[in-house]
Amino acid sequence: MDSRPLLPLLLLASAAALAQDADERVLRAGDTALRVDVIEVSDRSRAELLQRWIAETAAAPLSVFGRFPLRDAQVRIKQVDSDDDSPVPWGQTLRRDGVSVLLFVRRDATLQQLRDDWTAAHELSHLFHPYLGDRGRWLAEGLASYYQNVLRARIGALEGEEAWRRLDAGFQRGRKALSGVALDELGRRRGGTMRVYWAGAAFWLEADLALRKQPGRSLDTVLSAYSTCCLGEGTALVEPEAFMAELDRIAGGDIFASRYRRYAAAEEFPSLDAAYHELGIDVVDRRLRFSQGDAAMRLRQAIVGRRQPH
Ligand SMILES: [Zn+2]
Repeated sequence: MDSRPLLPLLLLASAAALAQDADERVLRAGDTALRVDVIEVSDRSRAELLQRWIAETAAAPLSVFGRFPLRDAQVRIKQVDSDDDSPVPWGQTLRRDGVSVLLFVRRDATLQQLRDDWTAAHELSHLFHPYLGDRGRWLAEGLASYYQNVLRARIGALEGEEAWRRLDAGFQRGRKALSGVALDELGRRRGGTMRVYWAGAAFWLEADLALRKQPGRSLDTVLSAYSTCCLGEGTALVEPEAFMAELDRIAGGDIFASRYRRYAAAEEFPSLDAAYHELGIDVVDRRLRFSQGDAAMRLRQAIVGRRQPH
């Protein structure tokens, strides 16, 4: 989730409590820093475990940029008691006096459970884009939903094929969700979560594939260039059309703007047949089959293959 205005009261109260009693570490990459605060955890080994988990997960954005997308951002971790099965029942990226990722972690979550959870990778991926408002909610959530799987495969938290299976499962959930309403209208109504997240992810997958037709280019390189030239630490709204225009200027073509207009107006989930064909992925009896030893396999590998840490 990515939000600026109208914090729920619970979060406001928690955010106030977060200011004190924190174990802060600073992760650095080049000229950028990610400050990680573990809040109100008196047990040193527990604080250490949570710091280690974020340090591992923070390698994910580094696989895109070689640096953190923002010169300065913050991750705050607070423990909660929760009946929720998820080891990270709640995560949110806040844009207020700078950008911070807030993660609520179940008090009894083990390191392995945390490593297996996608929430932190999702929230860290929200650092790649500016605040896009309600109309751009599907772009923001789509980018985080795409990268949460891609990045976890790159740092070895998921097998590559498992990343594709999870993306496909998301696309299926999106396909089953509410249709008959334009995607940007769903964003404005703050509804249709599954379609907003996964049609959004489909948009970024298609854009990544289109970019990779040019030598040396990918969504990684375009977002990396955007972060260097244009991504501010501020919380100002960037209209989705302006974001798309800037990415097209960097990529040197029309990969984003026209696709954006088509997706924003679409009332149905997009067909991904051409993308799956290009990726060498067949769906047989609702299971994915992957081509072997061909250009499609190399393309999949280029997207989700394991990266050496920078
Ligand atoms: Zn999100």
